[in-house]
Amino acid sequence: MHKCPCCSGQLLHYVRKSGPYWFCSHCWQEMPDLASIVAAQKQKQRLERLSSSLATVTQEKELVGVGNR
Ligand SMILES: [Zn+2]
Repeated sequence: MHKCPCCSGQLLHYVRKSGPYWFCSHCWQEMPDLASIVAAQKQKQRLERLSSSLATVTQEKELVGVGNR
C-alpha cells in the first residue's frame, strides 16, 4: 500500500499515457511514485558500493603482490 509522504493517507493509483502516478485525495495533489524512485536509488547505491568494494579487493591484491616480491 502506498502512503502519501505529506499526510500518510492512502494514495490512489492512476494510469495515464505518460505512465502511472499516485494521487492523494487528502492533499488533492499528485504524488511521484516514491517507492520506485527509492528502489532505483537503492539499487544505484548498491552498485556503487559493490564497485567500490571490488576496487578495494583489487588494491589489497596488489599490496599482497608487492609483499611477496
Ligand atoms: Zn496527502
